[in-house]
Amino acid sequence: MARTLTASALLVTAMVAWLSIGVGAQSAATVVADASKATGSETLASITYSGSAQNVNFGQTRNIGTPWSPTSITRITTYTRTIDLSQPASRAFGPTQPPTVPGAPAPMPGNFNQNITPAQSNWTQQLEIWITPWGFLKGAAANNATSRQSGGKTLVSWSPTMKSPSGQAYFVVGTIGDDNLVEKVETRVEHPVLGDLLVEAEYSDYKDFGGVKVPGRIVQKRAGLQTFEATVTSATANPANLTELLTPPAPAAQAGGAAPAAPVLETQRLADGVFRITGGYVALAVDMGDHIVVLEGPQSEARAVAVIAAAKQAIPNKPIRYVVNTHPHFDHASGLAPFVAEGATILTHENNEAFIQRGLTASRRLVGDALSKSSVKRNVEGVGERRVLRGGNRTIELHHVENLQHSDGMLIAYLPTEKILFTADFGIPNPGAAPGPVNPSLTVLVANIERLKLDFGPYIMVHPPVPDRPLTRADLMTAAGRGTN
Ligand SMILES: [Zn+2]
Repeated sequence: MARTLTASALLVTAMVAWLSIGVGAQSAATVVADASKATGSETLASITYSGSAQNVNFGQTRNIGTPWSPTSITRITTYTRTIDLSQPASRAFGPTQPPTVPGAPAPMPGNFNQNITPAQSNWTQQLEIWITPWGFLKGAAANNATSRQSGGKTLVSWSPTMKSPSGQAYFVVGTIGDDNLVEKVETRVEHPVLGDLLVEAEYSDYKDFGGVKVPGRIVQKRAGLQTFEATVTSATANPANLTELLTPPAPAAQAGGAAPAAPVLETQRLADGVFRITGGYVALAVDMGDHIVVLEGPQSEARAVAVIAAAKQAIPNKPIRYVVNTHPHFDHASGLAPFVAEGATILTHENNEAFIQRGLTASRRLVGDALSKSSVKRNVEGVGERRVLRGGNRTIELHHVENLQHSDGMLIAYLPTEKILFTADFGIPNPGAAPGPVNPSLTVLVANIERLKLDFGPYIMVHPPVPDRPLTRADLMTAAGRGTN
C-alpha cells in the first residue's frame, strides 16, 4: 500500500512537473504572440524612431558611483535609432551637447554615433538590439522562451544562441504588462570591472505610430545606475530608407596613411628598483624589499597579464602585494582583476572604494577570466588624502588630486627618494600640436603639486607621450603654461 502510494505520488509529481513545463512553454508562446500583436510587431522587419535623449559615458564620469549628474550628462538633441531585425543591425546617431562644467570653457557640440553590425558578434553590442521591445519579442519567438508570473506581472525569458566568453548562456528577461506591452527588459553581460553586469531597459508611455506601438520614454540602467534616457516623438515601421539610415558617414581620410604599429612592451629601469613598463598604458613596478608594488593595472586583462609578467621578470621572486589604481575609469580599472587573482590588494581613492569592491566581488559567471576561477579574497583598500607605502629602503607616497573635474577619485604617486612623479590623464600636447588653451586638468595638477610641495625630476605618464620620450617637471610646467620654473 505504502509502495503504491509512493508510486502514485511520484507519478502525480512527475505529471505536475511535466504539465507545468508544457503549460509554461505554451503560455510563453501565447504571451509572446499576444505581446507581438499588441505591439504591432508581427510584420516588423525594421524600425526607426527619433526624439531627444541624454546619456552619460558610463565608467568615465567624475564620480564613478553616481554617473547621472548634471556635469556628466550629454544631451543628444536629435536622437535617431534604427534597427534592422533581419540582419540584425542597428545604428543610433545625433548631434550632441556635452555638459557644461563649472570653470571650464563651453564644450563644443559633437556627434553621437553607435553602429552595430551583424559582424559584431559580442553581446555588449548586440544587446542594444535584443533589449528593445521589438528585438525582445522577436528573440523570444525564435528561442523557445519560457514564462512565469512574478508580482502580478508576466516575465518572459530566453537565451540567444551567442555564448559568453566563459561559454555560459546569456539570458534576456522581459516584463510584459497587463496591456501586453513590454515594460522592461534586462540582461547581463561580461564586464572586466563589474563582472556579470546587469543592463536594464524600461519602456513606458507607449504611443501608436502607424499601427506600431513605440515607447515614448526609454530609460537604460547599468549596474542599477541610470546611464541613458530618451523621449521618442516619431517612429516609422519598415522604413523605406533603411539602408541610408543604417549607413554611417564615411570616415575622415586618414592623415599619414597606415595606422601606427602597436607599441612594444619594454621594461625600462628608471632608478634602482623602479621599472617603467611600456607597450600600452604605462605601469611602474617598484621593488619594496620583500614585495612588489605596481602603479596602475590597466587597461584590459591581456595588458595586465603582460604587466604582471614584466614586473615579476624585472623584480624576481617577490609577490605583487599592491596594485595602485590611479582612478576608476574603466580604461584604467579593466586590468585590476588579474592583479586580484595574483593576491594583490587594490589601492584606490576612497571615493571609488565601494564601486570597485562591488565590481570585483560580483558574480563573474559570464566573464571567464582568471579571477572568475579564483577563490582569492578580493582586497580593496580606500586611500584618503594621502597614504605612504614603505618597504626595503623605498617610499611611495600616494596623494589625492583635489578639485579635479576629470575624476573625484584620482591618485598620483610620488617617489621622494628617486624624485619621480607618476600620473594618469594629465595629457601633455604632442610636439608640433597646434597651440591651444592649457588643459584645465594640468592647471589643477600643478596647483596640487605646489600644495603638496612635490619636488620631482622625471614625470611619468600612464598615457605615454607621442612619440615616447622621457619627460620632466619642465615639460609639465611648460604644458601647463607656467614656463619652466
Ligand atoms: Zn580617466
